[in-house]
Amino acid sequence: MSDPATATAPLVLAKRAAPGERPPVMRDYDAMVAAFRWEDARAELDGLPGGGLHIVHEAVVRHARGPRASQVAIRFLPKVGEPVELTYADLDARSARFADALRGLGLAPGDRVFALMGRVPELYVAALGAMRAGCVFCPLFSAFGPEPIRARLALGKGRALVTTAALYTRKVAGLREALPELAHVLVAGAEALAGTVALDALLESARDDFPIAPTDPETPALLHFTSGTTGTPKGALHVHGAVLMHHLTGRIALDLQDGDVYWCTADPGWVTGTSYGIVAPLTCGVTMLVDEADFDLERWYELLERERVTVFYTAPTAIRMMMKAGDAPARRRDLSRLRFMASVGEPLNPEAVTWSARVFGRPFHDNWWQTETGGIVLANYACMDVRPGSMGKPLPGLEVAIVRRDADGHVVPVDEPGVEGELAIRPGWPSMFRAYLDMPERYAKCFVDGWYLSGDLARRDADGYFWFVGRADDVIKSSGHLIGPFEVESALLEHPAVAEAAVIGIPDDVAGEVVKAFVTLKDGVLVTESLPRELLAYARKRLGPAVAPREIALRDVLPRTRSGKLLRRLLKARELGLPEGDTSTLEGGSA
Ligand code: ATP
Ligand code: MG
Repeated sequence: MSDPATATAPLVLAKRAAPGERPPVMRDYDAMVAAFRWEDARAELDGLPGGGLHIVHEAVVRHARGPRASQVAIRFLPKVGEPVELTYADLDARSARFADALRGLGLAPGDRVFALMGRVPELYVAALGAMRAGCVFCPLFSAFGPEPIRARLALGKGRALVTTAALYTRKVAGLREALPELAHVLVAGAEALAGTVALDALLESARDDFPIAPTDPETPALLHFTSGTTGTPKGALHVHGAVLMHHLTGRIALDLQDGDVYWCTADPGWVTGTSYGIVAPLTCGVTMLVDEADFDLERWYELLERERVTVFYTAPTAIRMMMKAGDAPARRRDLSRLRFMASVGEPLNPEAVTWSARVFGRPFHDNWWQTETGGIVLANYACMDVRPGSMGKPLPGLEVAIVRRDADGHVVPVDEPGVEGELAIRPGWPSMFRAYLDMPERYAKCFVDGWYLSGDLARRDADGYFWFVGRADDVIKSSGHLIGPFEVESALLEHPAVAEAAVIGIPDDVAGEVVKAFVTLKDGVLVTESLPRELLAYARKRLGPAVAPREIALRDVLPRTRSGKLLRRLLKARELGLPEGDTSTLEGGSA
């Protein structure tokens, strides 16, 4: 395979701060790596007065007791109606009331509290309030249908669920008998339904100074289910000590600074929407936006402009939608406030980086992490030149390597640049998951010879930038070549007609597997009979015959998870007539 480090996309240089503009939090990556000590990172946090570390103390309580008390912490933009703002002091009082209410219902520290609701204020209060009470919080994506809700509540032994009356009636009421451990359902608003408690009344009679108990950093805080891209979602358990990593990455990977207006588009039902849609922005003391509505191109551009967003964190699917609509919608807006834009969740194609640099005057900065890592592991930092298509470099303080099995079956790091292997991290980073619920063997298997194995394949170039190859499950073996779908998809995306591409391997008697691509087209592209052939020829020219797809099929849409990830396993199952497997997170699937 060609090395993407030598691909044609030009380097996007780091944007130097203009006069009067603040420089990035981290000014020199190499210097920070050399001098890095976790104690110094820890010094940016308070710690609990009585000792220990607690997410809600760092995110809310310490700000509410200081000069940020009356600063807006979260500005909610509802689908309909006026924005609602909560200051750090409001979040403090409301999370205290929520915690006290849970205690009043008899919930004990360690109990699991789930939420099933859209991005409304109650969700954020529930998250902070549940953790404040010492409970483990687990957000579920509100578009899930009854079965994925039941499965997650059962696996996570949910004792309480916070939801809305409408979601309860449609999706949860019929599950109660199947969920004997679910003792309490709290519904937002003043009206209770049979079998539930009205949240408003409960909060009204609760105390607003509920104290945080001394908390060991190893105390469980959050439960997150993986996206289900490669199979049945796994429940990853995270601890309060993770806040150290959330804060550090918020500062140096997202460059969050005083006065920022920050928008993370992810739903808290996915780990990004909690680590970077609740915890990190609050520990960093910025004002964050929460948009209740789903993706809508014009609305998004309008929000970026009107709300004067300075830091924007989103996903490749959304960026590709922006590209699909062309330059004009972006050019119509004054986006001069936008200082830093980042992307996560799927590989970010080089085309998207160069496009954004051209249209916004600044590139999207890709970063890589997983539900299991709890926080950003690799990133393109504000102070660093971006190599389009690369995931960037390891977070200072982390040891990240490309590893392979040696002849004795041991996992060993590969030192030579350009060699493909599995992306691995030295265990012990603060936000490392501490368990897969009910799957101790599966958890144990992730750790081999002193490395956490991510299940993703990548390579590192001579300058230390990491490049994504593909998930181990998705890599195609064709005539002795290992082909990463990302490289093929990125090449197809460079064709002016192509909006999205997904690539899978199809069994072949001669080659073992051959590459098949599925593509969607940009708005306004005329579908001619010759287009698939034209695309094939283009891919062959860009990639060479060994790597290029043998076949390209046009599609109106590609199957995705609700968090926007391409479900290549589903394309493959459908192509081969095999069972579809777990489709609980399929977009448009189970709601
Ligand atoms: P499951 O584990 O259930 O199959 P998932 O792996 O998609 O689902 P997440 O933890 O939400 O669940 O996603 C993490 C994965 O997403 C990574 O392992 C990687 O494959 C992919 N990913 C995330 N960010 C990037 C990125 N910047 N570049 C390439 N891939 C990325
Ligand atoms: Mg995964």
